[in-house]
Amino acid sequence: MQYDLIIIGGGPGGYTAAFEAAANALKVCLFEEREAGGTCLNRGCIPTKTLVHSADLLRAVREGKDGLRTEGAVVIDREALKAKKEEIVRIQREGLEKQLKAAKIEVIHAHASITGEHTVTAQGNEYTADSILIASGSVPARLPIPGADLSRVITSDDILRDLPQYDSLVIIGGGVIGCEIAGIYESFGAKVTILEAMDTLLPTMDSEVGRSLALLMKKRGIETHVRAFVRQIEEIDAACRITYEEKGAEKTVEAEAVLLAAGRKAVTDVFEIDPPLMEKGRLVIDDHFRTSCPHIYAIGDCAGKYPQLAHSAMAMAVNAVASICGKPFPRDLSCIPSGVYTSPEIASVGLDEKGAAAAGIAAVSGKANTLSNARSLIQGGERGFIKVVAEKQTGRILGAVMMCERATDLIQEFALAVHAKLTAEQMLAVIHGHPTFAEAAVPALEAVLKKLA
Ligand code: NAD
Repeated sequence: MQYDLIIIGGGPGGYTAAFEAAANALKVCLFEEREAGGTCLNRGCIPTKTLVHSADLLRAVREGKDGLRTEGAVVIDREALKAKKEEIVRIQREGLEKQLKAAKIEVIHAHASITGEHTVTAQGNEYTADSILIASGSVPARLPIPGADLSRVITSDDILRDLPQYDSLVIIGGGVIGCEIAGIYESFGAKVTILEAMDTLLPTMDSEVGRSLALLMKKRGIETHVRAFVRQIEEIDAACRITYEEKGAEKTVEAEAVLLAAGRKAVTDVFEIDPPLMEKGRLVIDDHFRTSCPHIYAIGDCAGKYPQLAHSAMAMAVNAVASICGKPFPRDLSCIPSGVYTSPEIASVGLDEKGAAAAGIAAVSGKANTLSNARSLIQGGERGFIKVVAEKQTGRILGAVMMCERATDLIQEFALAVHAKLTAEQMLAVIHGHPTFAEAAVPALEAVLKKLA
């Protein structure tokens, strides 16, 4: 069979590329060996957020700050929660499958291998196309430490599939997955310890975020260790012993299970020909999403250059198809918001102060805490802040970082500002509704405006 475009992988990157290709009248075929929707829908973002929602409700009822009292104990019904998670995923997946059908996209559920520059082979059949786009995603990375393959050492795939019950859990890696799952398991009653190798939790974000989150976690009973290097994991009776080095001293911690949350490994085992250039295990791509093999494109987690996020993959997909069709790029990949679903949420976009300095841009920042926001206070009132960074000379918004209720939605206003090069003054000219979570941006913008005066 001859196609204009063959796509390998049916996650957010792959299915977005398929819709985009069909909309551009390309004859397209999508290969997916598992379920449509990829990691995000089946084993990632969507199941996690379902659990985060229940964990937040449970914490709120237990803390008893909302004028609600229970007559008996509030417990998690794991089977009911698993059923809810599976139902949400099923509804979303069936919706996606219907959309693929409606767009007349040929979906083949099989493992596809690239067997020629223009050829893909699956189940013994050959398919050819002018272009091939790889959107094969990633899997949890296994750490090269002794004991990493023990049965009590699990990954987010295991947690999100089975929702196992643990009284204690050690999490290796205080990045996005580690921090989100720590909050879920703490709320479900486990004793959680995070071991993070870098200086703060969420080390890729403004360091104030990691420090604030560590304080909040401490308050909730989650133990966090930074600059902690895990040396080995051993199985002892019905538990694990984790040996790690912290400040030059060897320490140990024991737990029922260990979650590996130290990054994700690109899936690149799709080549039966010599693979194109790779760097740090990810496919190297140029500005047009082409690998070193010019008809073979790569997007999403398996490719380098952009963060491993579902919405980066979707934006890369739209631009890659535009590139194939010789059209200008519709998406601005220089400004990708990111969100962490802790409680409260964390989000960032654009440059922080360090990033601005590294780019040689003179910048100022303004910060406001969110306790004065009535909706935040009603919702939980944890310590929170919004920090806005603006260019000193022009007042243009360069970026924002926040840790507050609804941060993952609030960040969108700043993503628009960074993309459209709006100034703090222009943003303040827009009326923010009251009482809303969104108006928490106003005092932060006023703070940055003051610094610009
Ligand atoms: P990550 O890169 O966010 O965090 C991994 C952390 O592990 C890092 O902080 C790193 O310093 C630490 N680490 C690495 N090796 C270590 C070791 N030996 N000992 C202790 N710490 C170690 O990776 P992740 O949390 O596994 O997430 C994987 C990817 O999925 C990321 O790109 C993330 O952005 C994405 N993701 C995004 C979301 C979201 O957008 N909300 C949710 C989940 C995952």
